[in-house]
Amino acid sequence: MSTLLVPLRRLPLAARPFTRRTFATSSSNLASWGFIGLGRMGYPMAKNLRSHIPKGDTLVIHDVNTAATSKFAEEVQGNVEVASSVRDVAEKAETIITSLPEPSHVKSVYKAMLMPQTLLKGSIPQERLFIDCSTIDPRTSREVAQAAQGQGKFIDAPMSGGVVGAQAGKLTFMIGAPKELVERATEVLLMMGKRVIHLGEQGAGLHGKLANNYLLALNNIATAEAMNMGIKWGLDPAALADMINTSTGRCWPSEVNNPVPGVIESAPASRGYEGGFGVSLANKDLKLALQAAEEAGIQVALGPYARDIYDAVQANPECQGKDFSVVYRHLGGKE
Ligand code: NAD
Repeated sequence: MSTLLVPLRRLPLAARPFTRRTFATSSSNLASWGFIGLGRMGYPMAKNLRSHIPKGDTLVIHDVNTAATSKFAEEVQGNVEVASSVRDVAEKAETIITSLPEPSHVKSVYKAMLMPQTLLKGSIPQERLFIDCSTIDPRTSREVAQAAQGQGKFIDAPMSGGVVGAQAGKLTFMIGAPKELVERATEVLLMMGKRVIHLGEQGAGLHGKLANNYLLALNNIATAEAMNMGIKWGLDPAALADMINTSTGRCWPSEVNNPVPGVIESAPASRGYEGGFGVSLANKDLKLALQAAEEAGIQVALGPYARDIYDAVQANPECQGKDFSVVYRHLGGKE
């Protein structure tokens, strides 16, 4: 393992030197890590984290779904402790990663971790580093960051790469953090991903993620409409996609995730729209982007139309639970 990835030990956050350190063997130098939310993303991320941290370190995990934590403790080698509550994780770990579904879960988990405000009076008297990888709204994230003050530092690190990227340890994290925390957060996140992009202060990671996913949601619908149009005019689907992909309409949905079955063999459309980026997640991110834009007084013209389309796709029994490119089916595209 690269020394760059060896975690920094029990030093106060402010005093950490942020330099490479060599492998530490003394037991007094062993660190403890926390992971909350062992879902589709979190489970493989926590697995990768456990495989990269030093053997003697402990990974303390928690999920309301006890089947997930039991499976993890059975399946994953090394020191793994199943915590009885999220507070238990916060008391026992110095660096805590969360991967939770919605803003409400992030709020309640952090409230339970941070109250009462006595974390530093327990067995680990140092400030915690909280890294939230959930895709939530920037306002909730900011509130949680403020609530953490005094007991730790909270940064937002939403991710992209999906379940396949999480399993392969190839996620990209977009982080919002003060400059002095970037190096340490990067060391931690590179144990679960391949790229960390620092976009600015706390909240900036989420702003970047939501802007990107807003664009993706629109490009996906536009690609489905353009492909549908061309095919109904009589064009060959593969020839049309090839032409677009060497022309100005080219985008990720046209090139990698083309919505027309058979055009791109590896795309979800070619396997009944299974796997991929679920339409409900795409719609969730679009709505978070619209909400955050509205709160900042930013006008958007296309987003509300896209939201109505995704709501209808989600309600369509032929499309539920599928990859978001299934919008092509919903629009009556020829399969
Ligand atoms: P998931 O629903 O599969 O997993 C969330 C986990 O959190 C579940 O195991 C759930 O039991 C647990 N949980 C919920 N409330 C809890 C609580 N109070 N205490 C402890 N555990 C709790 O979701 P996911 O697909 O793993 O996504 C996690 C986050 O990552 C979401 O914010 C999502 O938007 C984002 N994300 C997902 C993907 C993807 O492809 N799935 C890609 C990028 C980002």
